[in-house]
Amino acid sequence: MPENRMVAGRPRRTDRITIYGEAPLPTHRGLFRTVVFRDAHSGAEHVAMVLGDVTGEPVPVRVHSECLTSEVLGSLKCDCRAQLDRALDLIAERGRGVLLYLRQEGRGIGLGNKIRAYALQAQGHDTYEANRLLGFPDDLRRYDVAADMLRLLGVRSVELVTNNPLKLAGLQEAGVKVRARIALPSPANPHNVEYLRAKRERTGHLIAIDPAPSSVAVGRRTTRATVAPRGDGRTRGAA
Ligand SMILES: [Zn+2]
Repeated sequence: MPENRMVAGRPRRTDRITIYGEAPLPTHRGLFRTVVFRDAHSGAEHVAMVLGDVTGEPVPVRVHSECLTSEVLGSLKCDCRAQLDRALDLIAERGRGVLLYLRQEGRGIGLGNKIRAYALQAQGHDTYEANRLLGFPDDLRRYDVAADMLRLLGVRSVELVTNNPLKLAGLQEAGVKVRARIALPSPANPHNVEYLRAKRERTGHLIAIDPAPSSVAVGRRTTRATVAPRGDGRTRGAA
């Protein structure tokens, strides 16, 4: 079992965030350390799941935004839960890594507005048109908080687990040294295939979308098996 101690003497706050609490957290993937950060401006509590020593060589890092509808309620309209599970699986397989769980529902527009956007999507608009009709830009997510979290965890450089080139650029802009990108396959289903296509076409997500099956048993985990990873799912040299 890898060690999970924080390095003594490390700073516990930046101008934006403070480490508020941390504790060992046993999970079915192993013993993680969970660290809760408080955002001084918004009051939001963000979470890091840390496995192993993350202060040395480039660390596998997933920066993940909260998605209650998918992760808790089982919505098939997006791929967030699968991405979260796969990122944690990958960190457990490598024996080290960090998952940052940012409390910014619906690309930062909040849960209520996300559901309003879903109502517009039910009338035929895609995910980005719906946000614009509600008066929001495509993506309100910010990565300076994530960069601060990594700094306070002692992470010096990362292998970023993402399909999103904007996230990679946003983190680099915020000062994170990204040494490589690790791709995650996206499982398609009839409810999210348009969403995945829109992500790929409108914001250049590097997603390999396999065709959705003609019928899917809603709510069954077998929907995941419809997409096979391509190659070893790894791309080098993103930095
Ligand atoms: Zn989602």
